[in-house]
Amino acid sequence: MKTAKNILEATGLKPTYPRLRILEYLERHENHPTVEMIHDDLVKEIPTISKTTIYNTLNAFLEKGILHAITITGTETRYDCKDVPHHHLLCKSCGQIIDVDIECPYIEQIDIEGHKIEERHGYFKGICKKCLKKKEKR
Ligand SMILES: [Zn+2]
Ligand SMILES: [Zn+2]
Repeated sequence: MKTAKNILEATGLKPTYPRLRILEYLERHENHPTVEMIHDDLVKEIPTISKTTIYNTLNAFLEKGILHAITITGTETRYDCKDVPHHHLLCKSCGQIIDVDIECPYIEQIDIEGHKIEERHGYFKGICKKCLKKKEKR
């Protein structure tokens, strides 16, 4: 298992305390949090941490490819540090963003019609299985 410190050092980012804490937070929270969600939780432990620090740190992580930005809702950016490529489902009922592990023929493709592909995002919208179950019960 690579630690947060290993990951930062491998990308050449100095493993400062806020960077380590933010990366560890993302590894522990697979719900694709927003800057606000990360800030609300981390400020309890690090009272001096600002939203700007978190935002700038996330951008540095994005540049280094440690994170992926998910814009499935269209109104906010959500962050994901899972390194296995995967697609996402947005549940219109509960608002959760859920990882979808389907076979995708394009997920590793680096050339499409002569264009160089650097990122792939697969977004699905619908109702998640938990919400479907709740509806059945009613
Ligand atoms: Zn749902
Ligand atoms: Zn994800």
